[in-house]
Amino acid sequence: MKTTMRAARLHVPGEALRIDEIAVPVPRPEDVLVRVRACGVIPNMNAIFSGALWNHLPELPAVVGLDAAGEVAAVGAAVRGVAVGQRVYINPFLACMDCAYCKSGRPMLCADWALQGYFGYVPASRRQLARYPYGGFAEFCTAAPQRLVFLPDTVEFAQAARFGYLGTSFAGLLAGGVGAGSVVMINGATGTLGVGATILALGMGATRIFGFGRNLAVLERLRALAPERIQTLALGEEDITNWVRARTGGLGADMLLDCSGRAASPAPTLAAIDALCHGGVAVNIGALSEKLPIEPFKFMNRATRFQGSNWFSTAQADAMARMAGAGVIDLSVWQTREFGLSEVGAALDLVKTRPGGFTNIVVCPDR
Ligand SMILES: [Zn+2]
Repeated sequence: MKTTMRAARLHVPGEALRIDEIAVPVPRPEDVLVRVRACGVIPNMNAIFSGALWNHLPELPAVVGLDAAGEVAAVGAAVRGVAVGQRVYINPFLACMDCAYCKSGRPMLCADWALQGYFGYVPASRRQLARYPYGGFAEFCTAAPQRLVFLPDTVEFAQAARFGYLGTSFAGLLAGGVGAGSVVMINGATGTLGVGATILALGMGATRIFGFGRNLAVLERLRALAPERIQTLALGEEDITNWVRARTGGLGADMLLDCSGRAASPAPTLAAIDALCHGGVAVNIGALSEKLPIEPFKFMNRATRFQGSNWFSTAQADAMARMAGAGVIDLSVWQTREFGLSEVGAALDLVKTRPGGFTNIVVCPDR
């Protein structure tokens, strides 16, 4: 067993990550050690590592990397049900387990939540990050066994390294009640969240999927996944509200999964909310930060809702892994671009170009 490992660490926010040789972590009795085989690289990563947003970074220098998948390399003495060699995805969501929400059995609402290898929500989140200070841009990291998702043989490590964004879409679709026969709108359909949401909505039984986005080539690829169930609209081409109502006999859609992000225009979100059927729900998972002028009267009259959804539970990720293993969702549509650990800077540069949600950029530390 190796005693040192290579890890990409953030030393100064906004500066390039450095590849350092550090000690291989020794897991506590209640934890496991995972040999990382792939870790995802996602659009928001450069902004988070810049330190210029609201988020709270782990103590620096920090081994970063959000969504790691790999093989269990060592198991703490107190751990049951996990064996060396098992293929896993590590859900990086860290709850404190002692705030009011955690104590009431709702850790996904944790006041001090953090994402391993990435950031925390409030300053107190650093306590969670300090307990699990190893992100996925390293040869090894530690994790609690409760956060492990066992991967079916047919799910590649590079595909599992996308589970963070896929799971965020999954939890949002579940919050919107998507199931057999649902009519779903996806705003921001061409991005990482949107393409994942489309794959999932197909598997969850949605019969009509309306995708809105800007990238025409990606919209066409999206439609081609299931032309009899998916229709796409380029933003700015037609009025979203009328376009959806014209395709639903005037009724509108059951749900909107709004993937629009931080600085996006709120106009498409507003128009899509207006295209909800009575009793419909809009769920934002993209962290739209612009203000939405809404008419509460319409929400009252139509009994519609707007809500947020943040990350996902390990049980939901387990379900996703089983769906992928059984072929209910098809992850083979992603095109993987693999980078070695020393190429992490190039991977982060590539994601800046917003190549679209069909491109899956991963760092493979053993490459
Ligand atoms: Zn908590």
